[in-house]
Amino acid sequence: MAQAVAAAIDQRRHLIVQAGTGTGKSLAYLVPAITLGQRVVVSTATKALQDQLATRDLPRLAEALEHHPFEFAVLKGRSNYACRQRIDEIAGGDEQMVLDGGGASVRAGPLGREVRRLVLWAQQATTTGDRADLSFEPSETAWAQVSVGARDCPGAHRCPSGPVCFAEAARERAGVADVIVVNTHLYSTALAAGADILPAHDVVVFDEAHELEDIASSAFGFDVGPGRLVVLARATRPLLADPAPSVAVEQAAEVLKQVIAPYLGAALPRPLDEPDQERLTTVRERVSALQSGIRRAMKDEDDRSRHLRAQQSMTHLINDLDAVLNLDDDDVAWVEGTSYNPLLRVAPIDIGAALQDSLWSKPEGPTAIMTSATIAPRLGERLGMTPGSYDQLDVGSPYAYDEQALLYCPLHLPDPRDPGFEAAMHEELRALMEAGAGRTLALFTSWRSMKSAADALRDRAPWTILTQSDLPKPALIARFAGDEHSCLFATMGFWQGVDVPGTALSIVTIDRLPFPRPDDPLLQARRAKLGRQAFEMIDVPRAATLLAQGVGRLIRTRSDRGVVAVLDTRLAKARYRWSLINSLPPMHRTRHRSDVEAFLEPLRNGTLNSRAAPTPSAGSASSDRP
Ligand code: SF4
Repeated sequence: MAQAVAAAIDQRRHLIVQAGTGTGKSLAYLVPAITLGQRVVVSTATKALQDQLATRDLPRLAEALEHHPFEFAVLKGRSNYACRQRIDEIAGGDEQMVLDGGGASVRAGPLGREVRRLVLWAQQATTTGDRADLSFEPSETAWAQVSVGARDCPGAHRCPSGPVCFAEAARERAGVADVIVVNTHLYSTALAAGADILPAHDVVVFDEAHELEDIASSAFGFDVGPGRLVVLARATRPLLADPAPSVAVEQAAEVLKQVIAPYLGAALPRPLDEPDQERLTTVRERVSALQSGIRRAMKDEDDRSRHLRAQQSMTHLINDLDAVLNLDDDDVAWVEGTSYNPLLRVAPIDIGAALQDSLWSKPEGPTAIMTSATIAPRLGERLGMTPGSYDQLDVGSPYAYDEQALLYCPLHLPDPRDPGFEAAMHEELRALMEAGAGRTLALFTSWRSMKSAADALRDRAPWTILTQSDLPKPALIARFAGDEHSCLFATMGFWQGVDVPGTALSIVTIDRLPFPRPDDPLLQARRAKLGRQAFEMIDVPRAATLLAQGVGRLIRTRSDRGVVAVLDTRLAKARYRWSLINSLPPMHRTRHRSDVEAFLEPLRNGTLNSRAAPTPSAGSASSDRP
């Protein structure tokens, strides 16, 4: 992988690399980038990986590469840093700016106390202002009082606190670093804005690249909900002698809610119905009237910063409302959330085209390295890369999957769409738990399916069955890992990020192939655009990625050993099966439970260290490999 990354950098050619868990991916891209003297941005999807790079991999590498000294920095989105200007305003007695849900000052209440604690921390205890450096976890409401988002900040050159701004200082540190670690949302926002949010760089590495499509989609879009109007109304009220325009905007939140709530879970019609169009226009007019009111109301220089922030928020909001009122053919708008708190989201239907324009086709743009343990089929195409314009490589896994793991698909089960499937699947799951003496992570595609299996098996199995509703995720995983024979039943949040090495996790079961919901409005719009290719381009790759992530929970070290049971016979029968199977590590495959029992025998009788290769029965699915 390191050689391929070096060649990609040298030839300025984009590269996609699949590299299994435990490969040492971060070293394989960092070492060539640093030793070739390139400035590199590493973009991660999760905070866990960002932390791992900043606190473990990069410091170790800095020690090891003593002949190639380099600097590194972490850069986050603006709202992750305390805003010096807000801190000054609150500390200077800006009572009305600290508001509770009803708009009253809460300086004396619990929120006020929390905000004061944050103000003291920002003034005296931190040099970075980074929320991650806090020794306590603030509430979202309190943090919102002491920070600003990119859409509210007027920019350092127009802000009195610009010279001492924490976010600007982080940007300056990043500006002189050789390696800059960011998250993919920030990187995508920079691409969407077309602005120099990030320092110029030669190479960008998208680690956890399987998340890039969805994160970029969200960053290239925007959302509008009643909450945004309420926050704006309450932030502007203290700036006005006559509060009428801000009261009107707060009331418009209810109007917006009435327009969008009926479309919950669905796409907004195109064009909008006439009455909805009129009501949205009313919302826009009220924000515009507030903007004029604020412009007229600016009294003195002291107020200037607050006014600029309010103007900035209103300009963004008006632009977003205009975009909804004149929805582009290339965008889709849909409603998420709840009927009480609906959120209208807008995103480009074809994120590939947006990335092509903003990244791949830029002659002076960086060389992109995309890597993940699970690269779905046709990722490059879906991201808008021209065929032939990039290289792709699979460096495999450091684990001996053919010795360490067995993939089982019980062909005697009914099709998952058959009414008899659920009972038969529960029985199969029970038999597997018995074969492994517990030690099972059972992954489900829905809460309903998880609950029903837990209810059906709790009294029929001698092992503790933990479910996702029992405890928060870290505590649940610790409990599962600590009780050798327990079983954990969980849904989507556990298909990634569960790392339980050793024998406590020896079986992973998957109830159904994890295809995306057919009624997801964004995917529906993408399917409609792709026509007959949609299933191959959208549904199969997404199922393949999630399936590989679920399967990836099993083998976490070279001495782990276990069974993956996919209880959906479409894995062995459907015409698209090889796209899924080829996305998985190269395990022996079987359709016979007796093979599973034989494979798990050493675990049951306590001689696990036996490392004999599995011996699938005659007629097992292994002979079916293309
Ligand atoms: S530039 Fe000013 S308003 Fe913007 S984040 Fe920095 S201190 Fe806050």
